[in-house]
Amino acid sequence: MTKVCERCKREVYRTETCNYCWRKIGTECVKASQKANKLTRLVICKDDWSKLAVRTMYKNKQAPAQAAARAKA
Ligand SMILES: [Zn+2]
Ligand SMILES: [Zn+2]
Repeated sequence: MTKVCERCKREVYRTETCNYCWRKIGTECVKASQKANKLTRLVICKDDWSKLAVRTMYKNKQAPAQAAARAKA
C-alpha cells in the first residue's frame, strides 16, 4: 500500500512528518533529520530548510510546532 507525499504529491512507500509544517512527506522531500534527544527525532522538509528562521531552529534542535501542539492538548 502506498501513501502520498503531501509536499510533492507523489506516491511513496513511507512517509515522515516534518516537525516544522506537519505535512507527511516522503523521504525524497526530507532535507535532513536528527535526534534532538533520546525521545525526539526532528525531521525538516526541503521547503522549511529554505526558510532561514526555521533552519536555525532545526540547527538548535528546537521543534516549536511540537511544543505548541503539546500546549494545546
Ligand atoms: Zn515528496
Ligand atoms: Zn516542513
